[in-house]
Amino acid sequence: MVFEGIKTDFGPPYFRDLLHPVIAKNYRKWKYHEVVRPGVIKRVAESGDVIYVVKFGTPRLISIYTVRELCDIADKYSDGYLRWTSRNNVEFFVTDESKIDDLINEVQEKVGFPCGGTWDASKGEYGLSNIVHTQGWVHCHTPAIDASGIVKSIMDELYDYFTNHKLPALCRISLACCANMCGAVHASDISIVGIHRTPPLVDDDAVRRTCEIPSTVAACPTGALKPDMKNKTIKVDVEKCMYCGNCYTMCPGMPLFDPENDGAAILVGGKVSDARRVPELSKVVVPWVPNEPPRWPTLVKYIKRILETWAANANKHERLIEWVDRIGWERFFELTGLEFTQHLIDDYRITPYFYSEFRATTQFRW
Ligand code: SF4
Ligand code: SF4
Repeated sequence: MVFEGIKTDFGPPYFRDLLHPVIAKNYRKWKYHEVVRPGVIKRVAESGDVIYVVKFGTPRLISIYTVRELCDIADKYSDGYLRWTSRNNVEFFVTDESKIDDLINEVQEKVGFPCGGTWDASKGEYGLSNIVHTQGWVHCHTPAIDASGIVKSIMDELYDYFTNHKLPALCRISLACCANMCGAVHASDISIVGIHRTPPLVDDDAVRRTCEIPSTVAACPTGALKPDMKNKTIKVDVEKCMYCGNCYTMCPGMPLFDPENDGAAILVGGKVSDARRVPELSKVVVPWVPNEPPRWPTLVKYIKRILETWAANANKHERLIEWVDRIGWERFFELTGLEFTQHLIDDYRITPYFYSEFRATTQFRW
């Protein structure tokens, strides 16, 4: 093989080369796992080897200086190994139990990250893991809301649930900053989705200079775009537009973001797990909350209220949708104090060969 032994930047490295030696040695040969305290998971191998995984929450957007601090800490306590989880936690691997407290103290002192985010179903103890989320205003071009800023604001309020095992069951919170939905909001216990509510603006000059008109028109799933060949630009039929942003992906001359009218919807009751009952899709319970940077107080208030109402009323091991199914949606709205409006009624209809109405869905790739 020509590239053998040569490191390139094509594709990820083979993951087994990056495992901590104790994990690599005992791969698929574990006897049991136990959460010994919030944030600390003990893994015992059939060989008798023991390793502790110590988990910390991060705000996800972190500087290179923080990454270097964490790497130095990993060199000191974790044999130079650490990993980031898909929920933006960072995990260290400790073979000497007596070092765990020093590790936790040093992480908190140097970077201020809390230890937690674990749960142990066998003991009926559940903490809240960090929120999985998307790019937000920092990276992506189509967000209706920010991602990391909102998540930081929410997790600051839910800090105690991260550092302790105070919940009745597993609770997954996720955020996607537009309906393209790079986050797992379709199937999470509590989800936040950014929604656009106005059609794209057409900057004729930018369209002329930067866009391929036929492919932009073809990208609209609802047929809302028409070429205006006389003026070498594009026209939008606003009645047909469902604000999906696909045209903006094709053509930078058609920006969709509108901070005044964009906002977030809140969904609840989704789950991916097959445990006890089938997976569920999330359902809308708050149709729109405005953008309120930098701390999004209304959104934070709603998320906290939903989580705490569920936590106070659910039975042990009862996930949010299981609790709602037991008490009924009417009672859910009563207990949470959320307003029920016509926007929450699921009127999505699909016919085999045509769409009977526009704006029936925000799905735009098929
Ligand atoms: S959810 Fe939408 S706005 Fe957010 S990162 Fe994905 S495509 Fe971009
Ligand atoms: S439906 Fe989507 S692709 Fe079509 S005009 Fe509206 S935002 Fe653009």
